[in-house]
Amino acid sequence: MSANLAVMLKRLKPSIKLQVFEVTHELAQEASHSGNNAGTGHAGICELSYTPSREADGTVNVARALHIFEQFEHSKQFWSYLVASGVAAKPSDFIRAVPHIGFVHGAENVSFLRSRFEAMAQHHFFHSMEHTTDWETVSAWAPLVMEGRESEPVAATKMDTGTEVNFGDLARRMLQWLGQQEGCGLATGHRVTSLRQVNGAWQLGVRHQASGEHRVHRAKFVFVGAGGGSLPLLQATELPEVRGLGGFPIGGHWLVCSKPEIVSRHNAKVYGMTPKASPSLGAPHLDSRELGAQRTLLFGPFAAWTGKFLKHTGSHTDLPLSLRSHNIGTLLNAGAHNLDLVRYCIAQGVQTMEERMEAVREFYPAAAQADWELVDAGIRVQALKKADQGAIYFGTEVFTDSHQSIAALLGASPGASVSVNIAREVILRCFPHLLNESAALSRMKEMLPTYDEDLKPAYMGTRFREVSAKTEAILQINPHF
Ligand SMILES: Cc1cc2nc3c(=O)[nH]c(=O)nc-3n(C[C@H](O)[C@H](O)[C@H](O)COP(=O)(O)OP(=O)(O)OC[C@H]3O[C@@H](n4cnc5c(N)ncnc54)[C@H](O)[C@@H]3O)c2cc1C
Repeated sequence: MSANLAVMLKRLKPSIKLQVFEVTHELAQEASHSGNNAGTGHAGICELSYTPSREADGTVNVARALHIFEQFEHSKQFWSYLVASGVAAKPSDFIRAVPHIGFVHGAENVSFLRSRFEAMAQHHFFHSMEHTTDWETVSAWAPLVMEGRESEPVAATKMDTGTEVNFGDLARRMLQWLGQQEGCGLATGHRVTSLRQVNGAWQLGVRHQASGEHRVHRAKFVFVGAGGGSLPLLQATELPEVRGLGGFPIGGHWLVCSKPEIVSRHNAKVYGMTPKASPSLGAPHLDSRELGAQRTLLFGPFAAWTGKFLKHTGSHTDLPLSLRSHNIGTLLNAGAHNLDLVRYCIAQGVQTMEERMEAVREFYPAAAQADWELVDAGIRVQALKKADQGAIYFGTEVFTDSHQSIAALLGASPGASVSVNIAREVILRCFPHLLNESAALSRMKEMLPTYDEDLKPAYMGTRFREVSAKTEAILQINPHF
């Protein structure tokens, strides 16, 4: 998130001075690291959780899927700009096309998927979506999904222009580029320990991890892009807007299969129905995952209990230390209003390997336990706001203070896929003056050709296809060419 914002700001205003602090020694080791997330380029194609169950008249509301698709278009536009301008070298280093498939079984779910497809395929974003209830066709699209399946109604939708992204690699490339620019600094192994306003500017306490040396830095604007580590920093600001804000960490596990004879038979990201009680992070999926030369099969995520806000530099005291008199009520209220979710998380945390395999077999009925290994995924910290009165929103939201002198991210889904749109939103809210100059505006248009356009209306179909074809060509992600 920080990398996208920093590069976009530097390109927009080349004279800007920027300093990045990163607590770990290597870059992008937390949620954005490829081993910690699924790398799905979330575009609303296969994620059934983005389209809620049917309305009373039988139709499916696809507004959220359209919104996320458009946000991901911004990401693709910016990343293709990075390739074209030499910030990122080869697109194949960080993005590849992989079919995105929505798969369901059972008569009720089959009927839901049909309605969802009917609503989606008529929109120009999802025009190339295919739908089938034919066993042979699903077998051709995703052979493992049908292997050993007992006779029952099945259905699937597919789009070949789905993507897989190595968000960690991309972030490292952007930050390395930034570190070489005049007026920019990149300090790894440095933890921001305090953040407060002094005489109208932000004062950051920063500790060098290796030497323990402590320094103070001043800045007019701060972006708290610390992932799970954002809540303690926001709390340190003592801003009135932060009162009542709490966070709940949810760890994750994957089941991973590395057997070449199995892995080679699956080339898709297959998402299914989300268990009713689970948050959107619980939407299970069977993915082919390609990292460098290594290809694996990944299933999950499974939620895990943790008190840590960060996987590598977090501590089990993170959660208790984040509790304040003003946010305990927020957490308790969220728990009381979401008992199904609490039960779901508890059940997930005590699952046996055999129970996890049962979840895999929903997608791959012939899966054998011996072929799978349980590995740790990243941690998400679910933001809980007092104003939500117990409701939990699984979105990604930009937080700013009333002076727009500080911005941060709350929430983690759809996450890295919409990081470019987050950067765009932070710029529009906190740096609108940068866009007053016509030179800066054209630089913005170069980075994000549709940054101020709404691509959703039917009359924008031609414009969408024209821009999308260009970005797909640069990123080499249109499998039809
Ligand atoms: C299991 C799982 C699966 C996911 N799958 C997907 C997916 O398929 N597609 C998708 O788009 N998104 C996915 N996400 C979400 C996505 O990974 C995150 O939304 C995204 O990576 C967050 O990026 P970030 O920059 O905010 O945080 P991070 O990548 O966590 O970066 C924050 C950085 O700040 C550093 N930091 C923290 N505190 C401090 C401090 N005090 N001082 C200095 N540095 C600090 C950390 O070390 C870290 O490097 C998934 C997440 C999880 C957990």
